Amino acid sequence: MLYIFDKDGTLVSGMGNRPANTPEEQHVLPNVLERIQALRSADHRIAIASNQGGVAWGFITYEEAVFLIGDCADKIGGVDAFRLCPYDPKASTKNPESKYAKDAECRKPRPGMLINIMRELGFSPDDTVMIGDMETDKEAAQNAGCHFFWAKDFFDWEETNADKQGSGNGPSTIDDAGDIPIAPV
Ligand SMILES: [Mg+2]
Repeated sequence: MLYIFDKDGTLVSGMGNRPANTPEEQHVLPNVLERIQALRSADHRIAIASNQGGVAWGFITYEEAVFLIGDCADKIGGVDAFRLCPYDPKASTKNPESKYAKDAECRKPRPGMLINIMRELGFSPDDTVMIGDMETDKEAAQNAGCHFFWAKDFFDWEETNADKQGSGNGPSTIDDAGDIPIAPV
């Protein structure tokens, strides 16, 4: 099987109400290492598909976004493939000159990144699972025709009042697993 993970709020924490902008701000979330190691031991493939609209908004550069995915991949023991989408049409209000401030086929909930990874690694949608923390992750999986799990179920995070399905960004650190921040857009 191919397991495609969202990054922010699924594999690593952000900084409360925004995604991490530096490697130091990216902390691997609870149970992630163990679960991914088990998948790898069972010969499954691991990939990351991440919207990085912060590039369009000008919070980070495209190169920094790539670097952050690489850092996340390193922290979870490596991945077989990754894709990121630097586009966000909403960024045109703040950053109209950015070439990334527009919609794109790669931006979840569109299925572009998932289809791309499935092609690269040679998996059908039936043999592919997407894991994420946002409604857009679920919709991207549906649009790609693959299976979907919420990160909080896949990684067995304890549910809290603030951690309603699809609205959470996951626990921000292992020490702070009960305190769920509001997810960034
Ligand atoms: Mg996320």
